[in-house]
Amino acid sequence: MKIAVFAGDGIGPEVTEQAVRVLKELPLPLSLITGDVGGAAYRLHGHPLPDETLVAAREADAVLFGAVGDPSCDTLDRHLRPEQAVLGLRRELGLFANLRPAKMFPGMEDASGLKPEIASAIDLLIVRELNGDVYFGEKGMRTTDAGLREGYDIMSYDEGEVRRIARAGFEAARKRRGKLCSVDKANVLETSQLWRDVVIEVAKDYADVELTHMYVDNAAMQLVRNPGQFDVIVTGNLFGDILSDQASMCVGSIGLLASASLGERRTQHGTFGLYEPIHGSAPDIAGQGIANPLATILSAADLLRHSLGQAAQAERVESAVAATLSDGVLGRDLGGTATTAEIGDAVIARL
Ligand code: NAD
Repeated sequence: MKIAVFAGDGIGPEVTEQAVRVLKELPLPLSLITGDVGGAAYRLHGHPLPDETLVAAREADAVLFGAVGDPSCDTLDRHLRPEQAVLGLRRELGLFANLRPAKMFPGMEDASGLKPEIASAIDLLIVRELNGDVYFGEKGMRTTDAGLREGYDIMSYDEGEVRRIARAGFEAARKRRGKLCSVDKANVLETSQLWRDVVIEVAKDYADVELTHMYVDNAAMQLVRNPGQFDVIVTGNLFGDILSDQASMCVGSIGLLASASLGERRTQHGTFGLYEPIHGSAPDIAGQGIANPLATILSAADLLRHSLGQAAQAERVESAVAATLSDGVLGRDLGGTATTAEIGDAVIARL
């Protein structure tokens, strides 16, 4: 079972170290290889995503990714900036489905921006399309006939792109509580009308999943009014980007949220994927040993589940994380004093 570990910049190496420690505690034949990404890779190889890193990713069953981002690289040409590493990996590896679970850990309700009785019900998964939409359409700046500057970004999805992410949404719902909410803006956008039509077509293959539709503005409102109503949400790149960040704050700290990016490539044990915390390199706290490693440890649990077919080991890790939190071993982001390494120790002790 081959895992490529790309720690990256800032707190990336700190949090990844703890996730690797947890993985090494498990009774699995894991082979871990490391690779350079982000600003660290730029300094060593002149590029944020060197060829050898890409080769290591392609040869692995899964990638565990820390974070990239380095303020000293902010003046580089855009294609050399650290953030291009994660965009490049997603594109090169065909990772089109981004799964972001958001679940309230018992005892953590006070960390949420929502009232505890509303926050306690959160157990949802956002399945966001990652390779299309307005982010990848034709874009540019032009001048109108009236001489005004105009920016434009074209939003589009073809039915194949919608079908494959819809399937990912239905498959995920099938493994959870069997409810899928498709979020779009079909009342005003043609792209969304096609999205909705195709999702309804795909639903014929998933009679066991209850499908509903919601406009994105209402979904944003419902996420804070009654998040407990959602099981799986499937949505496009733009809407998913915004809703998943909103969902993260509903459960408290950004240091708790994992994400999985999956494609169609099957490995010996599951689906190839890239697993990373949703947070960035946090330069403001890097090097201080105070970053919360739980999002990365939970990302490793998702890796075990989706790419290595090790659901039982994934649940062990998730239970150890939940116990760590309920026992009050909290980092600064959650109002505690535990260091990055102490949180890693606590999870390992509870495994
Ligand atoms: P960030 O997620 O790095 O940090 C936002 C805030 O949350 C900071 O105050 C930080 O200290 C805190 N925080 C983040 N993770 C934490 C953790 N595990 N424990 C405790 N506190 C934590 O976002 P930002 O500051 O907007 O971006 C910093 C850099 O990261 C930028 O260069 C950005 O481009 C990059 N970035 C990378 C990724 C990625 O690698 N996928 C994602 C987002 C941002």
